[in-house]
This record gives sequence, C-alpha cells and structure tokens, in this order.
Amino acid sequence: MPAPIETEALIIGAGPAGLFAVFQLGMAGARCHVADVLEHAGGQCVELYPGKPIFDIPAHPRITGQELVARLVEQAAPFEPVYHFGESADALERLDDGRFAVRMASGKVFHARVVVIAAGGGAIQPKKPPLRGIEAFEGVSVFYAVKDKEAFRGRDVMIAGGGDSALDWAIELAPIARGLTLIHRREEFRAAPETVRRMRALVAAGKMDFRLGQMRELIGESGALRAVKAAHGGETFEIPADRLLLFFGLTNKLGPIAKWGMEMEGGRIVVNTENFETSLPGVFAIGDVCVYPGKLKLILSGFHEAALMAQKAIGHVQPERHHAFVHSTSSDILAEKLKG
Ligand SMILES: Cc1cc2nc3c(=O)[nH]c(=O)nc-3n(C[C@H](O)[C@H](O)[C@H](O)COP(=O)(O)OP(=O)(O)OC[C@H]3O[C@@H](n4cnc5c(N)ncnc54)[C@H](O)[C@@H]3O)c2cc1C
Repeated sequence: MPAPIETEALIIGAGPAGLFAVFQLGMAGARCHVADVLEHAGGQCVELYPGKPIFDIPAHPRITGQELVARLVEQAAPFEPVYHFGESADALERLDDGRFAVRMASGKVFHARVVVIAAGGGAIQPKKPPLRGIEAFEGVSVFYAVKDKEAFRGRDVMIAGGGDSALDWAIELAPIARGLTLIHRREEFRAAPETVRRMRALVAAGKMDFRLGQMRELIGESGALRAVKAAHGGETFEIPADRLLLFFGLTNKLGPIAKWGMEMEGGRIVVNTENFETSLPGVFAIGDVCVYPGKLKLILSGFHEAALMAQKAIGHVQPERHHAFVHSTSSDILAEKLKG
C-alpha cells in the first residue's frame, strides 16, 4: 500500500467551486490537493457545455465554460495545487489526531486537516439508450457531449433528444454540418420555447431535418457509424449519419459521499451558511453539492461559498495562528506567490 498523501486541505471536485476554493484557501495560507473522477478540471462547464457562452459571470459579459475554467486554473496556479484526476472519493474516516483519511476508489489515501466537498451533483454520467453494440461506437462516432464543435464540421450529424442540450447543439452545428437530423420521440420538447422556435425555423428553412421516432439500431463497422435505424408508428427508416450525439439527460449521483455521516437533504449536503461547514466539523461543502435555504445552483454562488468556507477552514488547518480576513489587494501571501 503506498503511503497516504499528506495535505492541509483536500478538495473533492475540480469544477468551478473546487478550483476557486484552491485560490481562496491558498490566499488564506493553505496548500491543497484536488481530486476529481474526471480526467480534467472544469466539472459541468467543461464536461457538459465547454463551448457555450455563459453570460452571468461578473465582469465577463460573455465567456465559454472552457475559457472560464482555464482562467480559474490560472488563478489557482500560484498556490501550486496538486491535481489527482481519474480519482473518485470513496470513504472518509476521522483519524485519532483529528485529521481525516479520505480513500479513493483506486485505493489512494489522503490525510487532510480539512476536506472540502465540491462534488457538484456527483460523478457526471450520461444516460445511455439501450442500443445493441453502442459501446463500440462510443468515442469514435457516438458522443454524449460536444468537446470541440469542429469535429462535426462537414459531417452527417444526427442528434437525439428533446431538451435544451439537444436543441442548442442542433442549432449550433446545423451551419457547419454537411447534414443535420434531430430525432425525438414526440412533437413536444423540454427545451426553452425560444430554442424550440429557432430549431423549427431552421427546419422550415431547410437547414436541418427533424424526424419523429426512436432509434432502434446503429449501422456501421469498427465503431464507424454509417446510419441509424429508427422507427415511428409502425414505420422503420434509416437516417444516414457518421456522427451521433445523444442527449438523454444525465445521471449524477453523489454515491458514497452521501453516506459519510453528514446531514443531508434531498441528496445534497446541508451546510451552515456562515462558513459552509457541514454537520461534520472540518468537512465543508460548496457549490452545487450543498443545500441551504435559497441556494441557487450557479457558478457565482460556488465562488461566494468558497470565500466564506476558506475563512473558517483555515482555522482548522492552522489552529495555532490568528487569522484575520484580508483583501486580495493587501494579501502578503498572494503578493509573495505572484512574485515567483
Ligand atoms: C447546460 C448547463 C448550462 C449552465 N449554465 C450556467 C450559467 O449560465 N451560469 C451559471 O452560473 N451556471 C450555469 N450552469 C450551472 C453550473 O455549471 C454549475 O452551477 C456549476 O458547474 C457547479 O459547480 P461545482 O464546482 O459545484 O460542480 P461541478 O461543476 O458539477 O463539478 C463537480 C466536480 O466534482 C467531481 N466529482 C463528483 N463526485 C466526485 C467524487 N466522488 N470524487 C471525485 N470527484 C467527484 C465531478 O466529476 C465534477 O468534475 C449550467 C449548467 C448546465 C448543465
């Protein structure tokens, strides 16, 4: 068994809340390790909507999920966080000396003075349709998210789903795809009415197709898709497609974290809004994973929560020191880090 990794703070989740927590804890004087089950930083912003503009980040009238995350990573970098990607937090235990041992599913163990849970809605997993042999196509011609829309340029794209993601991407990719077909099992859509209106306008203008139906079979070899067989009202038809995007929603379960003994409400972690500590002293929860009266699942909220969390968490990390709140403009710790 490798020796436990010692850290002052362990942050679980490298989404926007976890990344900003590195900055806030760093400015307060704590070193962080960050673990995420994904292979990269960014949480939902990168996994679900990397290229979509976000309009409600203060001082950024328009910034994509990917750009925002790149800036958060840059902002956190002076504090030298150590990232552990592909690591899923599994078990938490309090050690005799008051610290925490957090075990990852891989067996890796962290010893930390404070644990900050910034796990969003939990490990993000797309819902998959029951199509035989779909695994062979995944990552080659079948995708559950758009990482780079250029990968769809000049392609015969099929998009399945009736929510915002399906329609947003249909509208975005229609101008660059060779052909684009949206398939949905019914005429009604869950997407925003304005998005539905824009999609229907593109169909009326002949810039994309819409088919009512349910997918039955993927046709192709060695992961290379050629067409999708679908059915509607007793009729079976084939739609040529070499790229298929599936947007049937996501499952994100908090998994083992929900059983760590913290007070929970509706699958989320109850926090004290003064400092975002959970019912386990020394364990904090910020971002989408926490719940309190009036909680909004916004990036902005996660930033605010990270700032308040750090003020309390630093007292657990360095109980012997007196900690006074300082602005970033007058932080000696930050000035020192930025010098290097
Ligand atoms: C399509 C869409 C559009 C949106 N638009 C906006 C918008 O315009 N403005 C806005 O403010 N918000 C928007 N949001 C919401 C915003 O993305 C979330 O509020 C934000 O991402 C929450 O950040 P977070 O860091 O708390 O969690 P997340 O971004 O969910 O990150 C949590 C991270 O924790 C990891 N994780 C989970 N469980 C574990 C575990 N056990 N071990 C290790 N790692 C784990 C996950 O892999 C993930 O990377 C949008 C969301 C969606 C889906």
